[in-house]
Amino acid sequence: MGAYQDFHQRSIRHRDAFWSEQAALVDWHRPFTEVCDFSRPPFARWFRGGETNLCHNAIDRHLASRGDQKALIYISTETGQEKTYTFRELYKEVNRAAGMLATLGVGKGDRVLIYMPMIAEAVFAMLACARVGAIHSVVFGGFASASLAARIDDAKPALMITADAGMRGGRAIPYKPLVDEALRLARHPPRNVIVVNRGIDKEYRPLAGRDLDYATLRRAHAEINTPVTWLESSDPSYILYTSGTTGRPKGVQRDTGGYAVALAASMQHIYCGNAGETMFTTSDIGWVVGHSYIVYGPLIAGMTTILYEGLPIRPDAGIWWKIVADNQVSVMFSSPTAARVLKKQDPKYLAQYDLSSLRHLFLAGEPLDEPTHRWIADALHKPVIDHYWQTETGWPILSAVLGVEKTPIKFGTPSFPVYGYDLQILRESDAAEAAADEKGVVAIVPPLPPGCMTTVWGDDERFVNTYFTSFRTRQVYSTFDWGIRDKDGYHFILGRTDDVINVAGHRLGTREIEEAVQSHPNIAEVAVVGVADPIKGQMPIAFAVVKDAAAIATPELARAQEKGVMDAVDKQLGAIGRPSHVHFVTLLPKTRSGKLLRRSIQALAEGRDPGDLTTIEDPAALDQIKRALAGDFLP
Ligand code: ATP
Ligand code: MG
Repeated sequence: MGAYQDFHQRSIRHRDAFWSEQAALVDWHRPFTEVCDFSRPPFARWFRGGETNLCHNAIDRHLASRGDQKALIYISTETGQEKTYTFRELYKEVNRAAGMLATLGVGKGDRVLIYMPMIAEAVFAMLACARVGAIHSVVFGGFASASLAARIDDAKPALMITADAGMRGGRAIPYKPLVDEALRLARHPPRNVIVVNRGIDKEYRPLAGRDLDYATLRRAHAEINTPVTWLESSDPSYILYTSGTTGRPKGVQRDTGGYAVALAASMQHIYCGNAGETMFTTSDIGWVVGHSYIVYGPLIAGMTTILYEGLPIRPDAGIWWKIVADNQVSVMFSSPTAARVLKKQDPKYLAQYDLSSLRHLFLAGEPLDEPTHRWIADALHKPVIDHYWQTETGWPILSAVLGVEKTPIKFGTPSFPVYGYDLQILRESDAAEAAADEKGVVAIVPPLPPGCMTTVWGDDERFVNTYFTSFRTRQVYSTFDWGIRDKDGYHFILGRTDDVINVAGHRLGTREIEEAVQSHPNIAEVAVVGVADPIKGQMPIAFAVVKDAAAIATPELARAQEKGVMDAVDKQLGAIGRPSHVHFVTLLPKTRSGKLLRRSIQALAEGRDPGDLTTIEDPAALDQIKRALAGDFLP
């Protein structure tokens, strides 16, 4: 590591010079006067005095050079629809949508809550908000009405935009009844709701006076040009609630100029995506990955972006690779969970398509275990980059930065601190930097770089108290993740600080035990949780999905397999990490963004209520956990 190390060092030591160079990657309507205003720590204001606009940078500035290039490709395996928009067509659609907002009196600083499936109008809506300076709050289309109502009351939107229904696995999921219920529950409902009527929910009936039809409004604004509203760099662009894996969701507030610069720089240095190429990010617009790398990042970079509505294994497990081949995708971004899902399918699906256009596959959102990392890299014959970040940061914290230097990929690690992040692994006891190979809390010395959250929406105090008070002696940002840096400078994430299992005074990360379980060749996926134990304080128990079910076909075989797994843990981690039980299931409870609901599993294991489950992917998974705990033999 030479070139990248220098690049990173410079970003910290010569922060302002570094970021002022990066800022040249986007258009400024008015130049900034100060790169970083850190006069009120830990709050940072980036590119102070500068005026810009995300929509202008994503669309308008490309019109002259690439107006006829594809900007957005919408592919739905749910409805069989495929539609392409050039930058010029996208420009028109966004102008229309922005015109609707303006007609409804929505302008700078107003909030617009977007509760939509993965359809092109959702992207138009987001960009239209950006265009008129409104603050969007996209709420993931899987949230139930109570969660939606809480987000309505927190953001107090002037307007909501939704659709009659989404589709999942071929089934219609009506959205509008949920929205109606949420609006009934909310204390601050907006006056109007724009509804994209896809004709999926035949029961859909607009409420006169409140619900407005998107198609009708679009016709009325067909030829309109809506000028860009220039924003001061620190003006908020959006609010996005954290997924709530660990409690009450926080409204992450993002700025405008810092975010534009951070994304533009990341497209170049991290994702190595060039204007004119195509990016395929398999996330959902309701999550941060969708905001940054389905919508804003690729478009700001002049790339074509793919919006995919559908499952990864329908019609078959080759669908993503077909999309890559058909559209000459060069940058792909997905999640470790998806990689594990694919690992369970027939490998022929990966070999079936011409993937020569693909340069890298990026994965984030959860720990990527070494065997899965190795498997997918081998299967694809492509570099697979594990990278680590959070809703809060908006773009990667740890990653290989291959656009600067082709550092070797080490399996099971998201590599190095990204430029701009003064990342330290701190000892919990005294906030001192941990030695190499010593476990500590992953922390960032403020100011957080451009693009990161600027505060909690409407609650500066909560921002400081939540993120900056973990250590008494130093005001640093805590990621609430454990990490380790090895002697070569590669970083490993060991799990969340509140997911620690304390076995007889030994503190073990769930990730460490899960990795050890996964070292057993027949384990596809596992969740480890700590349950209260009268003698040892806590004991780990594991819920595992096997690759070859024949190995657990009878209770005797299952017991032998359990023993095999325990031996594997003994060997990898030591007997201290050995789960007291390994339960076999075919499905693990996850959120719809693919995160394990360890907290709910743990609650069930301790006989408690599993808590808020509105984002669960498949409720049947919890039944399996319950039955496994009750001693049922599942296979
Ligand atoms: P909440 O903060 O509301 O509990 P969340 O933390 O699950 O929700 P996100 O911001 O989507 O919401 O997830 C970020 C977290 O995901 C990280 O803090 C880390 O725990 C985990 N994570 C993300 N990427 C990786 C990765 N590459 N390796 C390991 N863990 C990762
Ligand atoms: Mg979090």
